[in-house]
Amino acid sequence: MLGKLALWLRLTGHDTIYSTDIHDDDLLDIAKSEDRILLTSDAGLHERAKQREIKALLLRGNVDDRVARVFSEFNIAPHINPSCSRCSKCNGTLEEIGKDQKARIKELVHEQTYNHYDRFWYCKDCQSVYFQGGQWENINEYMERIRGLLS
Ligand SMILES: [Zn+2]
Repeated sequence: MLGKLALWLRLTGHDTIYSTDIHDDDLLDIAKSEDRILLTSDAGLHERAKQREIKALLLRGNVDDRVARVFSEFNIAPHINPSCSRCSKCNGTLEEIGKDQKARIKELVHEQTYNHYDRFWYCKDCQSVYFQGGQWENINEYMERIRGLLS
């Protein structure tokens, strides 16, 4: 259950594969062939990764503990710059869309959102559009919480 962790890694710009329906063997193969670090809360899977010389980190505790542990282990700054973020839904890279180009995403957001904001981030892979709306405050509050755990 590392979905939240995957979200925070993508928002901080890290190339993160996350799926709830990948078989353990496939997960290990992907980690090995793409030289990825396996993050898991499954001690057995962690052990198998170690045996195959795959970089792996075994995570314990609640979501906040896990996020703080990973940020600490890999020196990730708990700060979100949306222009460096990856798509939280699909891990795609985001393109920033400024005011002069925003007509491009008009069909993809609610009219109210379109009229209110002038800065968007667009995922070419899944067509998701992000903007600094109400959730933005929650995102920053959570990063502050992680900063607190790290200090
Ligand atoms: Zn996407």
